[in-house]
Amino acid sequence: MAQFSRVVLRRSKEDAVRRFHPWIFSGAIAQVDAQDGDIVEVFSNSGEFLAIGLYHNSNIAVKILAFHPVKDLDDLFTERIRQAYQLRSQLGLTESETTNCYRLINAEGDNLPGLIVDWYNGTAVVQAYSIGMAQQRHRILAGLRSVYGDKLRSVYDKSAAVLPHTLNAKPEYLLGEKEEGLVQEYGHRFQVDWETGQKTGFFLDQREHRQLLTHYSAGKQVLNTFSYSGGFSVYALQAGASLVHSVDSSAKAIDLTKQNIALNPTETGTHEAFTDDVFDFLKTCDQQYDAIVLDPPAFAKNVSARHQAVMAYKRLNLQAFHRLRSGSVLFTFSCSQVVQRDHFQGAVLAAAIESGRSVRILHHLTQPADHPVNLFHPEGLYLKGLVLWVE
Ligand code: SAH
Repeated sequence: MAQFSRVVLRRSKEDAVRRFHPWIFSGAIAQVDAQDGDIVEVFSNSGEFLAIGLYHNSNIAVKILAFHPVKDLDDLFTERIRQAYQLRSQLGLTESETTNCYRLINAEGDNLPGLIVDWYNGTAVVQAYSIGMAQQRHRILAGLRSVYGDKLRSVYDKSAAVLPHTLNAKPEYLLGEKEEGLVQEYGHRFQVDWETGQKTGFFLDQREHRQLLTHYSAGKQVLNTFSYSGGFSVYALQAGASLVHSVDSSAKAIDLTKQNIALNPTETGTHEAFTDDVFDFLKTCDQQYDAIVLDPPAFAKNVSARHQAVMAYKRLNLQAFHRLRSGSVLFTFSCSQVVQRDHFQGAVLAAAIESGRSVRILHHLTQPADHPVNLFHPEGLYLKGLVLWVE
């Protein structure tokens, strides 16, 4: 009896897997005998082994774990987690004196499709985006224990927040219990609440861009929109900004922002926080700024919403241009995966034209190295940003 269920591909649909793309779409499948969540082996129409992965009866039917036969899945998960850790170690993140939070597993980018693991100073927060990956939670836990040893104090499984409600999954600690959640990023202190916060609790993907903002903050008046827990605001104040305004529509986010500002006291700057819609705030405020950060949530979740999203980026950036002094910077981002860099830059260009401002690109930004993109899976690239000099 075969150990794993089998998936056989249609003859004309084998190219993608031979190019190491980690997804097999349902239309490529000739035969399947598997339940949602099963580990399956994938074969060509002529019976050649191609891959092993996680099956789900949906558009993306198989997410591939390996392109070679696997005898021991425990070893595979531990090895993948070890490789991910070694990369973060190479990046200087695992032993850093000033940063003790980072992304350990970035899904396809770390060859574990649909799995996110973020590290917060001894706590690993896990989000499995598929039933199959959620069913592997004990292998994930074993791999984390093997790689971190005693450094791992707790593991919080927050997959329930991203899995279909019909599964009735509950968030739970797989190891240890709730911790204080105090982390450091480039020496700045942040309180992270992974249980009730957004995503895994903190937006680790903006670390390098917050650091970049420090070069443009001394003595400046800075507006941080979509501030969430105030990451950009804390860095700007610490770097000597004279005034920082943080804006978010969520009262909880504004509370987190205030808490984090208080954790990083300065004598030089003033901070004010506004619970408001950013579009309304930009329309009605009468202040001009030296630097503005625009880091909105994904405006488009799928291709059909892309046009609307591009129009929203244009409106948002146009409003920001109206609030910038001559000789100022705009940090502008899009984290919508379906909005590609040229669409986004086109939206910013349209806004700049309409504003009549002279605008130069200083930096092209993307996701940091602890959010790697698998070259065979370009869909993993989601974060795009520009730093603009505005006259
Ligand atoms: N820049 C943040 C992450 C932003 S996440 C960081 O570095 O941590 C996006 C945030 O935008 C969320 O906190 C959400 O509450 C907020 N948000 C979404 N739509 C909004 C709107 N129209 N106006 C104001 N805030 C909004």
